[in-house]
Amino acid sequence: MATATFYDPLFLEHDTGPGHPERAARLEAIVACLQRTSYHASLVKLPKREATLAEIGLVHDSQYIAQLESFCNQGGGYLDGDTPVSQNSYAAAVLAAGAGPGAVDAIQKGDASNAFLMLRPPGHHSLRNRAMGFCLFNNVAITASYARSRGFERVAIVDWDVHHGNGTESIFYNDSSVYFISLHQYPCYPGTGARKDRGAGAGSGYTLNIPLAPGTGPAEYERHFAEEVLPALEEYAPDLILVSAGFDAHKSDPLASLELTTESFARLTEGLRTLSGSLCAGRIISFLEGGYHLQALAESVEAHVAVLAT
Ligand SMILES: [Zn+2]
Repeated sequence: MATATFYDPLFLEHDTGPGHPERAARLEAIVACLQRTSYHASLVKLPKREATLAEIGLVHDSQYIAQLESFCNQGGGYLDGDTPVSQNSYAAAVLAAGAGPGAVDAIQKGDASNAFLMLRPPGHHSLRNRAMGFCLFNNVAITASYARSRGFERVAIVDWDVHHGNGTESIFYNDSSVYFISLHQYPCYPGTGARKDRGAGAGSGYTLNIPLAPGTGPAEYERHFAEEVLPALEEYAPDLILVSAGFDAHKSDPLASLELTTESFARLTEGLRTLSGSLCAGRIISFLEGGYHLQALAESVEAHVAVLAT
């Protein structure tokens, strides 16, 4: 079945200022690269769909949402040491937060079996009550909660961004209905994601952290994926798989020092795609998170989408 995508030029208007690595050019490079592919015409383009306040409120405190809107309306500035926003950042964040729920609806209607969402701002560091690490609303967490509200019972989130998805982990740390799995460089920003952190209370055992030393190469990384991530997914048997797809574990990325290649992302995607076929009718929704070397980012996304779409 078809692969859906979502992109909107409003995402370019989240202006992080000169010299910031999380910049509009990232999406422009991805869009240009996908437009040159043989399968571009076959991708289902999802319609524009903003998140409602209730949907964002599945994850975030209403006070934080209102503060973010007001801060952007007043022209923006820095929310933390590395998270700037501009006038249009709130609107971009609301649109990014709605893309995942839109993809859930499309999959439930049978319009697509999987999706890749080209979003800015990214989401996986944002916490219930604050922005963090270039992230405003936690797009993947909002989508997991939305999917639960739409009848999905077990949602798995695989986070292969090079940084630990601390926001997503914290939101579902006590929840067995969302299994959070992260592979990340460790130590690295944001400092969380130790192996021993496995969830708590009812969520005990439903967080899996795979910390990897700086310099870890494709063979070792992919071995952890094959020997830990895929078996954990198989055992959990999710009815929907979400991916926090950052591409900053690429060896060319300037912000971290794992050593994946473009082909690694194709193989990771192949592993998920094959497993999802037997577990959940191929249902995968993938969200752009990080990735800061423009060419490596665009080519890695292309490798990822090519496997989803073929
Ligand atoms: Zn990252």
